[in-house]
Amino acid sequence: MKNFEGEYVYDGEYFKTPSGLAIQNPLDQLKRSKLMLSQLLQSLGSKLTVEAYVIFINPQFTLYQTPPDLPFILPTQLNRFLSKLDQKPSLLNQSHKNLADKLISLHQTESPYTQLPAYEYETIKKGMTCCKCDSFAVTIVGKKLICDKCGCIELVTVAVMRNVEEFKLLFPEQKITTNVIHEWCGVVDSRKRISRVLGKNLKITGLGQWAFYE
Ligand SMILES: [Zn+2]
Repeated sequence: MKNFEGEYVYDGEYFKTPSGLAIQNPLDQLKRSKLMLSQLLQSLGSKLTVEAYVIFINPQFTLYQTPPDLPFILPTQLNRFLSKLDQKPSLLNQSHKNLADKLISLHQTESPYTQLPAYEYETIKKGMTCCKCDSFAVTIVGKKLICDKCGCIELVTVAVMRNVEEFKLLFPEQKITTNVIHEWCGVVDSRKRISRVLGKNLKITGLGQWAFYE
């Protein structure tokens, strides 16, 4: 599926805009996807063949000089293409169901390409950083957090909440408590101050030492 919008000219290797800008021909992507899906089906013992098309779904898309033999479905052809699919008789049997189950079992919700370094709360350097240059060299003066390195000034309240967000991102399983954020922010002396900021911006659950924020 491609959601390209506007006018393009088919130019063999590329799609070109009237102003001459070239973008990649989706056929390249299609070829790769078709090959990979075919190989997957084969490895699962399926005899199904893959018919691959590039579907342009945006009604505001025009492609000039398209050779008619390409597997492109343009917006004006979409309805006819769908009704043709509907006309094809298809009976699902157990082998289809087995294949579907196998495909579902292979489904990956997490990309195998995300590579996070290992980290632990205990070994991570605590303390607030400058919102501009990320330096740990920051000082609190009154209501402001001032960067000793670049001079950037941020309200302590805003900086604390920024650090809460960072903490949540790094430790999504952890509960947000005054103690935790107090230690995480480092530079803020008073626990009460942290507690006030959290109380103003988040919803408190529980009481006393068991209280946490959401
Ligand atoms: Zn800075």
